[in-house]
Amino acid sequence: MGYPRRALRLHATAQQITDNYEGRVPSGEGELRALPGVGEYTAAAIRAFAFGLESIVLDVNVRRVISRAWSGVDAPASHLSTVERALAQSLATAADDSSVWAAASMELGAMVCTKKTPQCSSCPLKRTCAWRTASFPRSGAGPRRQSRYEGSDRQARGRILTVLRESETAVDSDLLVDMSTDRDQMLRALESLESDGLVRRVGGAFALPF
Ligand code: SF4
Repeated sequence: MGYPRRALRLHATAQQITDNYEGRVPSGEGELRALPGVGEYTAAAIRAFAFGLESIVLDVNVRRVISRAWSGVDAPASHLSTVERALAQSLATAADDSSVWAAASMELGAMVCTKKTPQCSSCPLKRTCAWRTASFPRSGAGPRRQSRYEGSDRQARGRILTVLRESETAVDSDLLVDMSTDRDQMLRALESLESDGLVRRVGGAFALPF
């Protein structure tokens, strides 16, 4: 459900960069975070990877590496705490090049210290890793599973967007709603897409916003 919204925000961001920054992506954290859809993580990643500036890039992989290697806990909490942020800041500051640190820690989490099968024997942190030293205790905390896609409102929204993407003209709302025997769900999906700005009403029909 998040991906179509991202397309809208990307479009709005491109417009703002063109209008306000002469087509060049700004490097300031405040300027970046004022752009549509740009949050703390995206702003930090742009500053580190596009501009080589010091910033704390904390995606799920980096957080897992820090949690295991320095805190001895198999998985980070669902929400970033002040303590975790301070630890990440101190690690980035201690690195010779914080953008290299950001890229390396992301890669380590994605390729070596994976969620289910960490490859400790080939990990550069294996001698000092707190979680390994403690014999891999399990915290029992696990991330929330996303609900089933099949038969969901997300699937209904996706079906509507696919039809509109492939149509050169607006599609009658009855045709869209009749794509499923669950008309209530299709109506709900259509209304939510409209309120999210992902489709627009054209008389009794619907089309993509652009
Ligand atoms: S030693 Fe194992 S658990 Fe520790 S950071 Fe490396 S891969 Fe992860």
